[in-house]
Amino acid sequence: MRQLKSVLRTPLGLTATLLTIGVLVLAVIAPILWTDDADAIDTSNILAPPSAEHWAGTDNLGRDIFYRTLVATRLSVELALAATAIAVVVGLLLGTAAFLLGRRGGRLVNAGINIAVAFPGILLALFFAVIFGVGATGAVLAIGMAGAPAFGRLTQTLVAGIAARDFVAAAQVAGVGRLRILLRHVLPNIGEPLAVNATISAGGALLAFAGLSFLGLGVQQPTYDWGRLLFDGISSIYVNPWAALVPGFAVIIAGLAFNLFGESVAKALGVGVVGGIPKLPSVAAHLDDVEPVEDTRHSTDDVVLDVRNLRVTFPGVRGPIRPVRGISFAVRRGEAIGVVGESGSGKSLTALAISRLVDDSGRVEADRLELLGDDLRAADSKAQRQMLGTSLAMVFQDPMTSFNPTQRMGRQLAESSRHHQGLSKKDALERAVDRLRSVRITEPEKRAHQYPHEFSGGMRQRAMIGMGLMGTPALIVADEPTTALDVTVQQQVLDLLASIREADDVALILISHDVTVVGEVCDRVLVMYAGRIVEDLRAADLAAAQHPYTRALMAAVPDMHTDLDQPLAVIPGRPVDPSDVPEGCAYAARCPLASARCRTEDPALVADAAGHRVACWHAGEPLPLEIEDRELEEAEAS
Ligand code: SF4
Repeated sequence: MRQLKSVLRTPLGLTATLLTIGVLVLAVIAPILWTDDADAIDTSNILAPPSAEHWAGTDNLGRDIFYRTLVATRLSVELALAATAIAVVVGLLLGTAAFLLGRRGGRLVNAGINIAVAFPGILLALFFAVIFGVGATGAVLAIGMAGAPAFGRLTQTLVAGIAARDFVAAAQVAGVGRLRILLRHVLPNIGEPLAVNATISAGGALLAFAGLSFLGLGVQQPTYDWGRLLFDGISSIYVNPWAALVPGFAVIIAGLAFNLFGESVAKALGVGVVGGIPKLPSVAAHLDDVEPVEDTRHSTDDVVLDVRNLRVTFPGVRGPIRPVRGISFAVRRGEAIGVVGESGSGKSLTALAISRLVDDSGRVEADRLELLGDDLRAADSKAQRQMLGTSLAMVFQDPMTSFNPTQRMGRQLAESSRHHQGLSKKDALERAVDRLRSVRITEPEKRAHQYPHEFSGGMRQRAMIGMGLMGTPALIVADEPTTALDVTVQQQVLDLLASIREADDVALILISHDVTVVGEVCDRVLVMYAGRIVEDLRAADLAAAQHPYTRALMAAVPDMHTDLDQPLAVIPGRPVDPSDVPEGCAYAARCPLASARCRTEDPALVADAAGHRVACWHAGEPLPLEIEDRELEEAEAS
């Protein structure tokens, strides 16, 4: 409502709104008031020029052209709206097919849409007009079908945008099926831009109708729309040009009204027509030979998650890109594992692969990928969705995008319980209230009826954890859960995760770029660099880390002894581009210990007797800076 008011505040928006209302009102009242005047034949007054009695003159049967133009408004608008409705419905089916059908079927539909969009709309309309036949019905179908590919492309892009949001991922993790996600989470969020674009298209449809009728392919006698009047008027243009000009003006004004109104609303809402999804080449097989790096310390008794040689590959412009290059680890019941690394190290993608949330264009492979003994590599099935929905909880980085903004919080939490536990609406809502209470949200009954925007960032994040607790999770995957929160709220969220873990013996994977955060919360830390685990150690041993990268991460964290007059320590250079991983150790270009061997041979992840794994040819050797410090200390002591 607020946005519509802002439309009316601009001169253009106000004019477009008044014009559109005028056209619609005219469409309703004109046939009621003026049909008799429009159809009255006066053979004594054929092809008369404009006069006080006939403002736009008369046609070849002496009928009043002005009244006929007014009366034709209803049919013209009706046909345009019907064609737009067909374009939207068929476009919706096409645009959502890719989401529903998965990777292969989706690609096929996308290819079809791409080909159809490449054809000029008017050619498509003429093609369909020939197929559906001459007449109003044929013209509606032709223009509707010709507009469908553009709506298909728009829908596809909008769906892809919403599908990438965290609340859709959350619904997927909760095991909700694709159709249900589409109906409940995706479509309500794309309705606004679709409606705006449909309004703009209605203006285009009016013009297209006029074109088809003008070519004699549209409305046929005795019915008439503006295009038909134009067609009839053109034959007498030298005798009475107003016979063609007046319906022509009507088409232009109504077309402009719809178009400008749609544009104004789009501007007020910040909605635009978005472009297509870039096509990527397929994945080649040559990356399949990456050396697996085993975690050899698995005891299977209490293992919640077992990951062996996990790889994630995407198609790239210059060949396949593998951001996760063969990682292995296990998480046991009640254990908290931290995964740290810079952006692009593959840590978040690892979490997405575990949660089966990797984008359709990506390929997830592993020698083993099991949650509670269930193979996550198996094809998507109801049983697997049920298992994931009840056993795995996911907490995303940005609490703003973790919930569907169009639904109340209680309903969103209740969704998975209704789906998987077969609870009634009332019981599921009661459980949602209980779970909100368990994550320390005050007045949970009231909060359950509120929308996400009524929650603060910290509350949303706690509600997200509460959503994961609607089932009985064995594993919580928290991907940078505190990054978007302020410091005091960060601690609350970390404390909450720790208390849930302790109370229910839930395993936790905490992904963070902050090594001190994982050091505080976790039992064990996996350090990732360029898609590999380069060190795996107990959090208590972080101060004695052996890999130069882990030590650099630790050194980059300021502490109470940091000299604030000196620049803070940083890791020189940039992280490795996953599409261009160098030969040998990927860290060599930034490593102060790099030797000739490092640049040619990639070190394997090797475990010592205590289970500390590290991938480095010079693990534990002192860094040049440490040698300098030591020498300085010795000099001062002597
Ligand atoms: S293998 Fe060499 S380059 Fe890689 S981290 Fe170890 S010392 Fe540095």
